[in-house]
Amino acid sequence: MAAENPVERLLSLKGEVSSLPFPADEKELDALRVKYLGKKGAVSVVSQEMRHVPAAQKPEAGRLLQEIRTAVEGLVERAETEIKRNRVLREIENEFFDATLPGTAPEFGSAHPISAVMDEIVDIFSGMGFQVEEGPETESDLYNFEKLNFPPEHPARDMQDTFRLTGVDKILRTHTSPVQIRAMEKYGAPLAVIAPGKVYRCDADVTHSPMFHQIEGFVIDKDITMGDLKGTLQAFVRRFYGQDAKIRFRPSFFPFVEPGAEVDVSCVLCGAKGCRVCKNSGWLEILGAGMVHPNVLSAAGVDPNAWGGFAFGLGIERLAMLKYGVDDIRLFFENDMRFLRQF
Ligand SMILES: [Zn+2]
Repeated sequence: MAAENPVERLLSLKGEVSSLPFPADEKELDALRVKYLGKKGAVSVVSQEMRHVPAAQKPEAGRLLQEIRTAVEGLVERAETEIKRNRVLREIENEFFDATLPGTAPEFGSAHPISAVMDEIVDIFSGMGFQVEEGPETESDLYNFEKLNFPPEHPARDMQDTFRLTGVDKILRTHTSPVQIRAMEKYGAPLAVIAPGKVYRCDADVTHSPMFHQIEGFVIDKDITMGDLKGTLQAFVRRFYGQDAKIRFRPSFFPFVEPGAEVDVSCVLCGAKGCRVCKNSGWLEILGAGMVHPNVLSAAGVDPNAWGGFAFGLGIERLAMLKYGVDDIRLFFENDMRFLRQF
């Protein structure tokens, strides 16, 4: 081969490519591409041989090589277009368009179950004349504990319970109760406030999440009694759980109320007959409440001799779990569409 005149070899290759048959399909096109343009294809081989061409013949050899390359590349390009066009035409011919098939409908979003429950509760209390207030999620120890009558040794101040921010003298609020102080300082008395929001505690298992939602409610007025608290909560559970829902109070302790109570609602899952969720008691604990402690009124600049009040706080996740029969709180925050679609 080396002895052959390079220009003659190029001329014969040119003759060969000028009479190449038009590839009929992808397979033939691929074969053509490999045979001439591939790494070991004819055009590549002669390109490499160009360096052995005597100087006098170089211009002509270069021109021939360029013509050959252009011819092959042009053929490949035309064939590609033609084959593709034929394929599309074939597909259109074979295609059957069924205009009666249903289309793909867009997916509609909906409120997250936590948001839905929170909105519903806020709606119920708004209807009773409560105004909606919000407070900061990063709080000071002063508002989260001190002004709410938490003694310095109270376990809620423990590092294990409270998230403390590094570098600043702030914590993530552990409850929505600081809004009581903030609202009283802002508006004075009388006052009826509902305060929904996120709260944080260093705790995580099937019924605890490090971030969860609370709703705080409180009324400050003259001659407020435990009866007002009970009537308000009874009206709330009837709206939320249905006319048959009953409540009961059990004595309890929270630093910011005196007296304090835990409030149960008759089990909505078994109709108070006793089931696994209510541990056969027929009652479910849903919130903490009580009469606002005089120290809290004083700390917020409200005269405890002239005014009194009641307050309550409820956990949204717990209410949502009971309402929908969900037994793992983490499901609310994993955003698995299969879970969320059920609501
Ligand atoms: Zn039950």
